[in-house]
Amino acid sequence: MEEILVTRSSMPGYEEYIEEIRELWDSHWLTNMGKKHRELEQKLSSYLGVEHVSLFSNGHMALELLLQAMNLTGEVITTPFTFVSTTHAIVRNGLVPVFCDIRPDDYTIDAEKIESLITEKTSAILPVHVYGSICDVEAIGAVAKKHHLKVIYDAAHAFGTEYKGRGVAAFGDASMFSFHATKVFHTIEGGAVCFNGEQDGLTEDLYGLKNFGIRNEEVVDAVGANSKMNEFQAAMGLCNLRHIAEETEKRARVAARYREHLTGVSGIKLSPVQKDVRPNYAYFPVVFDEKLFGCGRDEICEMLKRHGIFTRKYFYPLTSSFECYRNRYDASATPVASETSRRVLTLPMYADLTEEDVDRICGLILQAKR
Ligand SMILES: *Cc1c(COP(=O)(O)O)cnc(C)c1O
Repeated sequence: MEEILVTRSSMPGYEEYIEEIRELWDSHWLTNMGKKHRELEQKLSSYLGVEHVSLFSNGHMALELLLQAMNLTGEVITTPFTFVSTTHAIVRNGLVPVFCDIRPDDYTIDAEKIESLITEKTSAILPVHVYGSICDVEAIGAVAKKHHLKVIYDAAHAFGTEYKGRGVAAFGDASMFSFHATKVFHTIEGGAVCFNGEQDGLTEDLYGLKNFGIRNEEVVDAVGANSKMNEFQAAMGLCNLRHIAEETEKRARVAARYREHLTGVSGIKLSPVQKDVRPNYAYFPVVFDEKLFGCGRDEICEMLKRHGIFTRKYFYPLTSSFECYRNRYDASATPVASETSRRVLTLPMYADLTEEDVDRICGLILQAKR
Protein backbone atom coordinates (compact mmCIF):
# COMPACT_ATOMS: atom_id res chain seq x y z
CA MET A 1 0.00 0.00 0.00
CA GLU A 2 1.25 3.46 -0.81
CA GLU A 3 1.84 5.80 2.10
CA ILE A 4 -0.58 8.66 2.65
CA LEU A 5 0.94 11.73 4.23
CA VAL A 6 -1.11 14.30 6.14
CA THR A 7 -0.64 16.78 3.32
CA ARG A 8 0.90 17.11 -0.12
CA SER A 9 1.84 20.43 -1.68
CA SER A 10 -0.13 21.61 -4.67
CA MET A 11 2.07 22.37 -7.65
CA PRO A 12 1.45 24.03 -10.99
CA GLY A 13 2.54 22.22 -14.16
CA TYR A 14 6.31 22.17 -14.62
CA GLU A 15 6.06 24.04 -17.94
CA GLU A 16 3.81 26.68 -16.42
CA TYR A 17 6.34 27.49 -13.71
CA ILE A 18 9.26 27.51 -16.16
CA GLU A 19 7.32 29.94 -18.36
CA GLU A 20 6.65 32.15 -15.34
CA ILE A 21 10.32 32.41 -14.33
CA ARG A 22 11.71 32.76 -17.88
CA GLU A 23 11.79 36.57 -17.69
CA LEU A 24 14.04 36.44 -14.65
CA TRP A 25 16.85 35.32 -16.99
CA ASP A 26 16.33 38.52 -18.99
CA SER A 27 16.00 40.94 -16.10
CA HIS A 28 18.46 39.32 -13.66
CA TRP A 29 16.24 40.86 -10.94
CA LEU A 30 15.88 38.02 -8.44
CA THR A 31 14.65 39.63 -5.22
CA ASN A 32 14.09 43.03 -3.55
CA MET A 33 10.48 43.65 -4.54
CA GLY A 34 10.75 42.94 -8.26
CA LYS A 35 8.14 42.60 -10.95
CA LYS A 36 6.73 39.21 -9.84
CA HIS A 37 6.55 40.48 -6.28
CA ARG A 38 4.51 43.54 -7.31
CA GLU A 39 2.28 41.48 -9.56
CA LEU A 40 1.55 38.96 -6.82
CA GLU A 41 0.71 41.72 -4.32
CA GLN A 42 -1.82 43.16 -6.77
CA LYS A 43 -3.39 39.84 -7.65
CA LEU A 44 -3.68 38.80 -3.99
CA SER A 45 -5.19 42.13 -3.06
CA SER A 46 -7.96 41.53 -5.55
CA TYR A 47 -8.39 37.81 -4.77
CA LEU A 48 -8.50 38.36 -1.01
CA GLY A 49 -10.62 41.49 -1.28
CA VAL A 50 -8.29 43.59 0.84
CA GLU A 51 -6.67 46.95 0.07
CA HIS A 52 -3.11 46.35 1.27
CA VAL A 53 -0.98 43.24 0.83
CA SER A 54 2.63 43.17 1.97
CA LEU A 55 4.58 40.02 1.07
CA PHE A 56 7.19 38.35 3.29
CA SER A 57 9.66 35.49 3.08
CA ASN A 58 7.40 33.45 5.36
CA GLY A 59 4.28 33.76 7.50
CA HIS A 60 6.13 33.80 10.79
CA MET A 61 8.23 36.85 9.91
CA ALA A 62 5.13 38.55 8.53
CA LEU A 63 3.47 38.16 11.93
CA GLU A 64 6.54 39.01 13.97
CA LEU A 65 7.25 42.19 12.01
CA LEU A 66 3.56 43.15 11.97
CA LEU A 67 3.52 43.08 15.78
CA GLN A 68 6.67 45.23 15.75
CA ALA A 69 5.15 47.69 13.27
CA MET A 70 2.06 48.02 15.49
CA ASN A 71 4.25 49.24 18.39
CA LEU A 72 2.52 46.97 20.85
CA THR A 73 3.46 46.95 24.52
CA GLY A 74 2.90 44.73 27.56
CA GLU A 75 0.46 41.87 27.17
CA VAL A 76 -1.22 40.25 24.18
CA ILE A 77 -4.26 38.02 24.64
CA THR A 78 -3.99 34.95 22.43
CA THR A 79 -4.79 31.25 22.08
CA PRO A 80 -2.47 28.37 23.01
CA PHE A 81 -4.29 26.11 20.52
CA THR A 82 -2.20 27.02 17.50
CA PHE A 83 1.09 26.44 15.74
CA VAL A 84 3.98 27.57 17.92
CA SER A 85 4.76 30.46 15.56
CA THR A 86 1.86 32.53 16.94
CA THR A 87 3.25 32.49 20.48
CA HIS A 88 6.87 32.92 19.36
CA ALA A 89 5.95 36.05 17.38
CA ILE A 90 4.59 37.64 20.57
CA VAL A 91 7.47 36.62 22.83
CA ARG A 92 10.17 37.53 20.30
CA ASN A 93 8.74 41.07 20.33
CA GLY A 94 9.34 41.27 24.09
CA LEU A 95 5.60 40.99 24.73
CA VAL A 96 3.85 38.69 27.18
CA PRO A 97 1.29 36.20 25.84
CA VAL A 98 -1.83 35.83 27.99
CA PHE A 99 -3.56 32.60 27.08
CA CYS A 100 -7.32 32.63 26.62
CA ASP A 101 -9.36 29.45 26.32
CA ILE A 102 -11.03 28.30 23.10
CA ARG A 103 -14.61 27.44 22.17
CA PRO A 104 -15.48 23.75 22.31
CA ASP A 105 -17.30 23.83 18.96
CA ASP A 106 -14.84 25.37 16.49
CA TYR A 107 -11.68 25.66 18.64
CA THR A 108 -11.19 29.40 17.99
CA ILE A 109 -10.58 31.83 20.87
CA ASP A 110 -13.55 32.14 23.24
CA ALA A 111 -14.47 35.80 22.90
CA GLU A 112 -16.54 35.71 26.08
CA LYS A 113 -13.44 34.90 28.10
CA ILE A 114 -11.29 37.70 26.71
CA GLU A 115 -12.56 40.57 28.84
CA SER A 116 -11.63 39.01 32.19
CA LEU A 117 -8.02 38.71 30.97
CA ILE A 118 -7.63 42.38 30.06
CA THR A 119 -5.35 44.39 32.36
CA GLU A 120 -3.91 47.92 32.08
CA LYS A 121 -0.95 46.27 30.31
CA THR A 122 -2.99 44.67 27.50
CA SER A 123 -2.35 46.23 24.10
CA ALA A 124 -3.75 43.70 21.62
CA ILE A 125 -5.69 40.51 20.92
CA LEU A 126 -4.12 37.92 18.62
CA PRO A 127 -6.68 35.23 17.70
CA VAL A 128 -6.15 32.44 15.17
CA HIS A 129 -8.64 31.31 12.51
CA VAL A 130 -7.59 27.80 13.41
CA TYR A 131 -8.09 25.10 10.71
CA GLY A 132 -9.63 27.87 8.58
CA SER A 133 -12.60 28.24 10.96
CA ILE A 134 -13.49 31.90 11.34
CA CYS A 135 -13.22 33.40 14.84
CA ASP A 136 -16.16 35.26 16.33
CA VAL A 137 -14.90 38.43 14.63
CA GLU A 138 -17.88 40.52 15.75
CA ALA A 139 -17.56 39.76 19.46
CA ILE A 140 -13.77 40.14 19.32
CA GLY A 141 -14.14 43.46 17.49
CA ALA A 142 -16.61 44.71 20.13
CA VAL A 143 -14.43 43.88 23.12
CA ALA A 144 -11.38 45.38 21.38
CA LYS A 145 -13.23 48.58 20.62
CA LYS A 146 -14.49 48.92 24.18
CA HIS A 147 -10.95 48.59 25.58
CA HIS A 148 -9.05 50.31 22.75
CA LEU A 149 -7.07 47.23 21.80
CA LYS A 150 -5.61 46.25 18.45
CA VAL A 151 -6.83 43.02 16.85
CA ILE A 152 -4.34 41.09 14.75
CA TYR A 153 -5.46 37.82 13.22
CA ASP A 154 -3.22 34.87 12.56
CA ALA A 155 -5.01 33.84 9.35
CA ALA A 156 -2.32 31.34 8.35
CA HIS A 157 -5.03 28.70 7.83
CA ALA A 158 -7.70 30.94 6.38
CA PHE A 159 -6.51 31.84 2.89
CA GLY A 160 -9.47 32.55 0.63
CA THR A 161 -12.16 32.16 3.30
CA GLU A 162 -15.00 34.65 3.45
CA TYR A 163 -17.36 35.69 6.20
CA LYS A 164 -20.67 37.27 5.20
CA GLY A 165 -19.31 37.75 1.69
CA ARG A 166 -16.16 39.58 2.78
CA GLY A 167 -12.62 38.24 2.61
CA VAL A 168 -11.52 37.29 6.10
CA ALA A 169 -8.65 39.82 6.05
CA ALA A 170 -11.23 42.61 6.24
CA PHE A 171 -11.64 41.93 9.96
CA GLY A 172 -9.46 43.30 12.74
CA ASP A 173 -6.65 45.82 12.26
CA ALA A 174 -4.54 43.42 10.18
CA SER A 175 -4.18 39.74 9.31
CA MET A 176 -1.25 37.47 8.57
CA PHE A 177 -1.39 34.68 5.97
CA SER A 178 1.17 31.92 5.59
CA PHE A 179 2.10 30.69 2.12
CA HIS A 180 4.15 27.75 3.34
CA ALA A 181 4.26 24.71 1.04
CA THR A 182 1.77 22.86 3.26
CA LYS A 183 -0.86 25.58 3.18
CA VAL A 184 -3.90 25.84 0.87
CA PHE A 185 -2.11 28.46 -1.24
CA HIS A 186 1.68 28.59 -1.24
CA THR A 187 4.80 30.29 -2.55
CA ILE A 188 7.05 27.42 -1.33
CA GLU A 189 7.84 29.52 1.74
CA GLY A 190 6.10 32.85 2.10
CA GLY A 191 3.53 34.95 3.83
CA ALA A 192 1.72 38.27 3.83
CA VAL A 193 0.26 40.96 6.02
CA CYS A 194 -3.10 42.27 4.81
CA PHE A 195 -5.23 45.16 6.00
CA ASN A 196 -7.72 47.78 4.92
CA GLY A 197 -7.53 51.55 5.26
CA GLU A 198 -4.62 53.84 5.95
CA GLN A 199 -3.07 52.98 9.28
CA ASP A 200 -0.36 55.46 10.25
CA GLY A 201 2.07 54.51 7.52
CA LEU A 202 1.76 50.77 8.20
CA THR A 203 2.50 49.93 4.55
CA GLU A 204 5.77 51.87 4.63
CA ASP A 205 6.74 50.51 8.05
CA LEU A 206 6.23 46.90 6.92
CA TYR A 207 8.20 47.59 3.75
CA GLY A 208 11.05 48.97 5.83
CA LEU A 209 11.01 46.25 8.49
CA LYS A 210 11.33 43.41 6.00
CA ASN A 211 14.33 45.18 4.47
CA PHE A 212 16.57 45.94 7.47
CA GLY A 213 14.60 49.06 8.47
CA ILE A 214 16.00 50.90 5.45
CA ARG A 215 13.82 53.94 4.69
CA ASN A 216 16.04 55.27 1.90
CA GLU A 217 19.67 55.12 0.86
CA GLU A 218 20.86 57.16 3.80
CA VAL A 219 18.20 56.55 6.43
CA VAL A 220 17.70 53.43 8.55
CA ASP A 221 14.99 54.31 11.04
CA ALA A 222 13.89 50.96 12.44
CA VAL A 223 15.56 47.81 13.74
CA GLY A 224 14.35 45.65 10.89
CA ALA A 225 15.08 42.15 9.67
CA ASN A 226 15.53 40.57 6.27
CA SER A 227 12.26 38.94 5.28
CA LYS A 228 11.77 39.73 1.63
CA MET A 229 9.93 37.35 -0.67
CA ASN A 230 12.08 36.58 -3.70
CA GLU A 231 11.00 36.47 -7.35
CA PHE A 232 11.00 32.67 -7.60
CA GLN A 233 8.64 32.44 -4.65
CA ALA A 234 6.38 35.13 -6.10
CA ALA A 235 6.38 33.30 -9.46
CA MET A 236 5.22 30.10 -7.71
CA GLY A 237 2.46 32.15 -6.10
CA LEU A 238 1.33 33.59 -9.44
CA CYS A 239 1.07 30.06 -10.86
CA ASN A 240 -0.70 28.59 -7.83
CA LEU A 241 -3.18 31.46 -7.70
CA ARG A 242 -4.40 30.55 -11.21
CA HIS A 243 -5.49 27.14 -9.89
CA ILE A 244 -6.82 28.06 -6.47
CA ALA A 245 -10.51 27.67 -7.38
CA GLU A 246 -10.12 24.12 -8.70
CA GLU A 247 -7.80 23.15 -5.81
CA THR A 248 -10.37 24.37 -3.29
CA GLU A 249 -13.13 22.51 -5.12
CA LYS A 250 -11.12 19.28 -4.92
CA ARG A 251 -10.55 19.82 -1.20
CA ALA A 252 -14.29 20.38 -0.77
CA ARG A 253 -14.93 16.96 -2.29
CA VAL A 254 -12.43 15.33 0.07
CA ALA A 255 -14.08 17.02 3.06
CA ALA A 256 -17.54 15.93 1.88
CA ARG A 257 -16.38 12.32 1.56
CA TYR A 258 -14.94 12.36 5.09
CA ARG A 259 -18.22 13.77 6.38
CA GLU A 260 -20.23 11.05 4.63
CA HIS A 261 -18.32 8.41 6.55
CA LEU A 262 -17.82 10.10 9.92
CA THR A 263 -20.87 12.28 10.56
CA GLY A 264 -23.03 10.99 13.38
CA VAL A 265 -20.55 8.36 14.62
CA SER A 266 -20.69 8.38 18.40
CA GLY A 267 -17.40 9.43 19.95
CA ILE A 268 -16.32 11.41 16.88
CA LYS A 269 -16.73 15.17 16.68
CA LEU A 270 -16.19 17.01 13.40
CA SER A 271 -15.71 20.76 13.02
CA PRO A 272 -19.01 22.54 12.45
CA VAL A 273 -19.94 23.87 9.04
CA GLN A 274 -19.91 27.55 9.97
CA LYS A 275 -22.84 29.80 9.12
CA ASP A 276 -22.20 32.63 6.62
CA VAL A 277 -18.71 31.30 5.88
CA ARG A 278 -17.15 30.33 2.57
CA PRO A 279 -14.61 27.75 3.78
CA ASN A 280 -11.27 26.73 2.28
CA TYR A 281 -11.14 23.12 3.60
CA ALA A 282 -7.61 23.64 4.86
CA TYR A 283 -7.62 20.82 7.43
CA PHE A 284 -9.84 17.99 8.55
CA PRO A 285 -9.65 17.79 12.35
CA VAL A 286 -11.47 15.02 14.21
CA VAL A 287 -11.91 14.98 17.98
CA PHE A 288 -12.22 11.56 19.60
CA ASP A 289 -14.07 10.92 22.83
CA GLU A 290 -12.33 7.83 24.16
CA LYS A 291 -15.24 6.78 26.39
CA LEU A 292 -17.79 6.84 23.58
CA PHE A 293 -15.56 5.71 20.74
CA GLY A 294 -13.88 2.94 22.71
CA CYS A 295 -10.38 3.97 21.78
CA GLY A 296 -8.48 7.21 22.01
CA ARG A 297 -6.71 9.62 19.68
CA ASP A 298 -3.21 8.25 20.28
CA GLU A 299 -4.31 4.70 19.56
CA ILE A 300 -6.00 5.76 16.29
CA CYS A 301 -2.90 7.70 15.27
CA GLU A 302 -0.64 4.67 15.85
CA MET A 303 -3.02 2.25 14.14
CA LEU A 304 -3.18 4.46 11.01
CA LYS A 305 0.59 4.79 11.03
CA ARG A 306 0.92 0.99 10.92
CA HIS A 307 -1.14 1.14 7.72
CA GLY A 308 1.11 3.82 6.23
CA ILE A 309 -1.32 6.68 6.91
CA PHE A 310 0.22 9.69 8.60
CA THR A 311 -2.00 12.04 10.57
CA ARG A 312 -0.96 14.93 12.83
CA LYS A 313 -1.79 15.71 16.44
CA TYR A 314 -2.47 19.32 15.55
CA PHE A 315 -2.35 21.07 17.99
CA TYR A 316 -0.72 18.99 20.69
CA PRO A 317 0.87 20.00 22.97
CA LEU A 318 -0.51 23.50 23.49
CA THR A 319 2.09 26.16 22.74
CA SER A 320 1.92 27.18 26.41
CA SER A 321 3.23 23.76 27.46
CA PHE A 322 6.24 23.56 25.17
CA GLU A 323 9.65 23.27 26.88
CA CYS A 324 10.48 26.91 26.18
CA TYR A 325 7.27 28.26 27.75
CA ARG A 326 6.56 25.78 30.50
CA ASN A 327 6.73 27.39 33.96
CA ARG A 328 6.96 30.75 32.28
CA TYR A 329 3.35 31.55 31.53
CA ASP A 330 0.16 30.29 33.10
CA ALA A 331 -1.15 27.47 30.96
CA SER A 332 -3.56 25.94 33.45
CA ALA A 333 -6.31 28.43 32.67
CA THR A 334 -7.33 26.92 29.33
CA PRO A 335 -9.13 23.64 30.11
CA VAL A 336 -11.04 23.39 26.82
CA ALA A 337 -7.84 23.88 24.85
CA SER A 338 -6.05 21.25 26.98
CA GLU A 339 -8.81 18.72 26.53
CA THR A 340 -9.13 19.32 22.77
CA SER A 341 -5.39 19.10 22.37
CA ARG A 342 -5.38 15.62 23.93
CA ARG A 343 -8.20 14.35 21.71
CA VAL A 344 -7.71 15.92 18.29
CA LEU A 345 -6.23 14.37 15.18
CA THR A 346 -6.02 16.05 11.79
CA LEU A 347 -6.60 13.54 9.01
CA PRO A 348 -4.85 13.64 5.63
CA MET A 349 -6.21 16.53 3.57
CA TYR A 350 -5.04 17.76 0.19
CA ALA A 351 -6.55 18.41 -3.21
CA ASP A 352 -5.30 15.19 -4.83
CA LEU A 353 -6.34 12.84 -2.03
CA THR A 354 -8.56 10.29 -3.76
CA GLU A 355 -11.99 9.11 -2.73
CA GLU A 356 -10.60 5.59 -2.35
CA ASP A 357 -7.96 6.88 0.06
CA VAL A 358 -10.59 8.65 2.15
CA ASP A 359 -12.71 5.49 2.15
CA ARG A 360 -9.74 3.43 3.32
CA ILE A 361 -8.80 5.91 6.08
CA CYS A 362 -12.38 6.07 7.36
CA GLY A 363 -12.81 2.31 7.10
CA LEU A 364 -9.80 1.77 9.36
CA ILE A 365 -11.03 4.35 11.87
CA LEU A 366 -14.53 2.87 12.01
CA GLN A 367 -13.11 -0.63 12.38
CA ALA A 368 -11.24 0.54 15.48
CA LYS A 369 -14.48 1.59 17.18
CA ARG A 370 -15.42 -0.56 20.12
C1 LIG B 1 2.03 27.92 9.21
C2 LIG B 1 1.63 28.77 10.37
C3 LIG B 1 2.36 29.89 10.79
C4 LIG B 1 3.73 30.23 10.25
O1 LIG B 1 3.80 30.38 8.90
P1 LIG B 1 5.15 30.04 8.11
O2 LIG B 1 4.84 30.52 6.73
O3 LIG B 1 5.36 28.57 8.18
O4 LIG B 1 6.25 30.81 8.74
C5 LIG B 1 1.84 30.68 11.80
N1 LIG B 1 0.68 30.39 12.40
C6 LIG B 1 -0.04 29.29 12.07
C7 LIG B 1 -1.33 29.04 12.76
C8 LIG B 1 0.43 28.44 11.07
O5 LIG B 1 -0.27 27.33 10.77
